Amino acid sequence: MESNGTEIRRVGVVGAGTMGSGIAQVAAQSGFDVVLVDISSAALAKGLATIAKSLERLVAKGKLTAEASAAAQAKLASAGEIEALAGCDLVVEAVVEKFEVKRQVLLALDKALPPHAILATNTSSISITRLAAVTARPERVIGMHFMNPVPLMQLVEIIRGLQTSDETCDAVFAMTRKLARTPVEVNDAPGFVSNRVLMPMINEAIFCLYESVGEASAIDEVMKLGMNHPMGPLALADLIGLDVCLDILRVLEEGFGDPKYRPCPLLVKMVDAGYLGRKSGRGFYAYG
Ligand code: NAD
Repeated sequence: MESNGTEIRRVGVVGAGTMGSGIAQVAAQSGFDVVLVDISSAALAKGLATIAKSLERLVAKGKLTAEASAAAQAKLASAGEIEALAGCDLVVEAVVEKFEVKRQVLLALDKALPPHAILATNTSSISITRLAAVTARPERVIGMHFMNPVPLMQLVEIIRGLQTSDETCDAVFAMTRKLARTPVEVNDAPGFVSNRVLMPMINEAIFCLYESVGEASAIDEVMKLGMNHPMGPLALADLIGLDVCLDILRVLEEGFGDPKYRPCPLLVKMVDAGYLGRKSGRGFYAYG
């Protein structure tokens, strides 16, 4: 049976990295048929392995039954091309935070998907209105900003572009609740709410390190013990990915035309060196 605009059954995820693998896992755990796509077969294999490990951990902790874990795995398919998403009612793109890459992916999705399908983007900072304008269905494009790590975090920041329809917004709210997550609606502006507030704090923490105000561990301890943050800002930057942080700061700097968002030169240098945080084994801290 063909789905109508508000009925989401089959979900596609483009990008099997940190976020895409988590989004695919949560959707499969919630009973959706999921197809995970990545341009890189190595990234796809790594994403699928991450999902398997995460499900195993949930079972070991008693948070998921072995049957539910097996059922989630059975709901999950993977592919190397966007054309494999032709039967999806909603696709979340979670490719790298570069407008040009997202533009190409959205163009391909717009061509491959049926007219009723919703295109959601997990962008951390790029204008939803600008991304929507790439497609012939701007009313069906929306920001669905999951938090990292997706299997553990409650919030999904829902961002309406200028042309996003009420029907799309309602369908995505309902979908988010089916994923056992809490949707919060905000409007389209660089960094939305989450990263407009978070990234300047992380950047300032990196400036503190750059200017030798404190060691990385001291900066993080101050914020943990003094401000009750569960993680220090430098450890959080490592978790997010230093390249992702840099990309977001650049979107904020360009979007507002305000030098207060200027990325710290130390962040630029670390990304140039390939120190991207946890995913590369080294960032402000070393990972085994
Ligand atoms: P990542 O680098 O871990 O993964 C990106 C994946 O996209 C890679 O596996 C790459 O191979 C794939 N990819 C690149 N081009 C592609 C293409 N044309 N087609 C298919 N796959 C392609 O990045 P990430 O941290 O998962 O971030 C993905 C998105 O989510 C970004 O927009 C980012 O801003 C956003 N986001 C990240 C976080 C975070 O904490 N990392 C949090 C919220 C949102």
